[in-house]
Amino acid sequence: MEALDHDHGGCLVFDSFTLSALPPEDEALRAPVRALIAEAIADLSLDCRARSWQGFDAAFSRKLGAAGYLGLTLPKAYGGQERGPFARFVVVEELLAAGAPVAAHWIADRQSAPLILNYGTEEQRQKHIPAICRGEQFFCIGMSEPGSGSDLASVRTRAERTEKGWVVNGQKIWTTNSLHSDYMIALLRTSGGPEDRHKGLSQLIIDLKAPGVTVRPIVDLTGDAHFAEVFLENVELGPDALIGAEGQGWHQVTAELAFERSGPERIYSSVVLLDAWIRHVQAVGRADTATTALVGRLMAQMGALRAMSIACTARLVAGESPVVEASVVKDLGTSFEQEVPLAIGDDLASHPDEPVSAELYRTLLYVTHIAPSFSLRGGTREILRGIIARGLGLR
Ligand SMILES: Cc1cc2nc3c(=O)[nH]c(=O)nc-3n(C[C@H](O)[C@H](O)[C@H](O)COP(=O)(O)OP(=O)(O)OC[C@H]3O[C@@H](n4cnc5c(N)ncnc54)[C@H](O)[C@@H]3O)c2cc1C
Repeated sequence: MEALDHDHGGCLVFDSFTLSALPPEDEALRAPVRALIAEAIADLSLDCRARSWQGFDAAFSRKLGAAGYLGLTLPKAYGGQERGPFARFVVVEELLAAGAPVAAHWIADRQSAPLILNYGTEEQRQKHIPAICRGEQFFCIGMSEPGSGSDLASVRTRAERTEKGWVVNGQKIWTTNSLHSDYMIALLRTSGGPEDRHKGLSQLIIDLKAPGVTVRPIVDLTGDAHFAEVFLENVELGPDALIGAEGQGWHQVTAELAFERSGPERIYSSVVLLDAWIRHVQAVGRADTATTALVGRLMAQMGALRAMSIACTARLVAGESPVVEASVVKDLGTSFEQEVPLAIGDDLASHPDEPVSAELYRTLLYVTHIAPSFSLRGGTREILRGIIARGLGLR
């Protein structure tokens, strides 16, 4: 948040969210990507569409890749589109608004490919980035461990150097999509102990089919198993598994988390439910003041968050790293995402004589159950507020 680092006499918060518009050439992506999505979701029920982040459909990801909707920010030399963050904003917005199944390519496209581009060797770039852009290689993120979630500096899982490369021992937890992924990019301790904090951490690419890797699903509150525990027992990796410099894992992970937090995806987790509820309200012909006020309030909140998220994207386009702004959007955005199912549940409960479709009820139930995770995944609210406070010079 460079604007806040300089004392230039103005009001600190005014500089942070300068509103911006999506360029017409990127807006033009909406119609063709919408057509592709419509085909993919034609047979999906509302509650399946509400699972968008968890919806794994490798064939759909390959279609997106073939049509040029993956790797939008990545160089053409590696199979990307070189279109930039605004184009990605439009495509991600369309995918999430429709509730398309994005899980297969989601992490690879958003985080792993940019990380490999920035820190990987030429060989790693050639091996992974074009395949990610085609929707053919899937990745998961192995940061959290039992006892190390917010406090990643205390990671214990170790990679020891051997004559042939590395040998890894330890355990990761809450690893989204590890059941279906090809590779995990893991944060591992390569020297020192947990007391050394961020010193001695490195990132390695682990082939999840390697001997010694066991992935055990964790069933969540909704009955789905989209994340898992990953056990690593004497997993042997080649010398080429290391991404970036040994001991630089902390610095690299911090940069990676900025990709994870700055996208539009932190405001749309309840949008399929919101859309379905507004259609329900229209269908039953409600026009009372309370309903109008609720629809207006939720739409106004979403519009403001969307404008803030586009403002963050404009900073990425300008080559900046809007770490603090992205934390503000994630904090407010996930609060909005969590409020939607509560407000809609209260609304439907206060109209007990109204016919409500089973599909809308199932969608409400699913989003209500999953909503607590919105403010945990990608960094908890308290951690984000600590980052904001630091950006304002308060810590
Ligand atoms: C749906 C979902 C998907 C996830 N996917 C992945 C994944 O793919 N890969 C991965 O590595 N991890 C993943 N995670 C894990 C996630 O990143 C962690 O759950 C998160 O970082 C919190 O860590 P923790 O669960 O260990 O909680 P803790 O760190 O133990 O925190 C418990 C509470 O204490 C608060 N707290 C902790 N430290 C501080 C502090 N310094 N100041 C103030 N408050 C503090 C936290 O905010 C929280 O409220 C996922 C989690 C969820 C819910």
